[in-house]
Amino acid sequence: MERACAQAHRDPASVRLMAVTKIFGPEVIRDAYALGLRDFGENYVQEMERKAPAIADLPDTRFHLIGHLQSNKTKKAAQLFSSIDSLDAAKLAVRLNAELKPLDVMVEVKLSHEESKSGAPESDLPEIVDAVRACEHLTLRGFMTVPPWSEDPELSRPYFARLRELAEQFQLPELSMGMSNDLEVAIQEGATWVRIGTALFGRRKKL
Ligand SMILES: *Cc1c(COP(=O)(O)O)cnc(C)c1O
Repeated sequence: MERACAQAHRDPASVRLMAVTKIFGPEVIRDAYALGLRDFGENYVQEMERKAPAIADLPDTRFHLIGHLQSNKTKKAAQLFSSIDSLDAAKLAVRLNAELKPLDVMVEVKLSHEESKSGAPESDLPEIVDAVRACEHLTLRGFMTVPPWSEDPELSRPYFARLRELAEQFQLPELSMGMSNDLEVAIQEGATWVRIGTALFGRRKKL
């Protein structure tokens, strides 16, 4: 990250590291915590629920939900996470707001045409952004995206560039983009968060 910031003439303090701990157990979170990491990304509400008791004693941790949120899980998600980074529908904002807990929010934007990816299409963004901004318990921080996976990080660049344009258009400061294989390109394109699993913890076993 530091090298990528230097190459992109960016202040290293302007890009933050989120440790993605999905599939790994609470002991991995504790190890990462001991090394100074405080922001963690988890993909599944139920998996977070299982791990939460084992890490409840660690002060100042911030857990981000980065996987698809179903509307029947909003109550649990609000309890377990301090930031919902994968919001992709206005109705989810209304349901989260009803939990009366202060939450940070990022809207996940789907910029590719892959069927499987979660995230809101660009055309939904005005409605979702308005909905989140109208929620008194939610603070809209920015946009998140996951480009189609590729060996070649350069193929992620147009998606990252587009996300930055959208964030400028909606006047949002945060951009969560870039994973283990394309974080350098993401930092060149303006990421303020990179979400890193494999490069920190090694390959995940399949579920
Ligand atoms: C798993 C995951 C990551 C981390 O991916 P790595 O390639 O292991 O760094 C980041 N973001 C999301 C949304 C993920 O699901």
